[in-house]
Amino acid sequence: MHIETAPRPAQMAERKRIALIAHDNRKLDLLDWARYNRGTLAEHDLYATGTTGALIEAELGIPVTRFLSGPLGGDQQVGAAVAEGRLDFVMFFWDPLEPQPHDVDVKALLRIAVVYNTPIACNRATADFVLSSPLMTRTYERFGFREQALAAQR
Ligand code: PGA
Repeated sequence: MHIETAPRPAQMAERKRIALIAHDNRKLDLLDWARYNRGTLAEHDLYATGTTGALIEAELGIPVTRFLSGPLGGDQQVGAAVAEGRLDFVMFFWDPLEPQPHDVDVKALLRIAVVYNTPIACNRATADFVLSSPLMTRTYERFGFREQALAAQR
């Protein structure tokens, strides 16, 4: 049996899998950002929580794979997809001024994105910098806790 000692990084392809989530007070902000960046977003695969996804799809006319609505488990589904390596980015416009019924899920998603070294943009300026990065159109080796954990299991 071959035992691998060095953990391998996760590969991000040129076409990225991007999750979009916005709390109600941030939805207009995310929609406006998405409209402005429609051309770039159309080159990638889009995912979103339920309501955000419906709005983005209607606004951009680009297919969006939808999870459940955030308060009904959508944030947890996005977190699980990050943990399983099924998403490359999260654009998470969470509301810093209002408590949410699913605050624990919000915190869990922020945590899991850090655990798996997954880029997560929580405001428009960060989203702009992320989307305009030259790395968006290249492959990228993302080396996170996931790969260390997998290597440790071997
Ligand atoms: P929504 O969920 O897109 O279904 O509104 C977002 C959230 O509250 O996390």
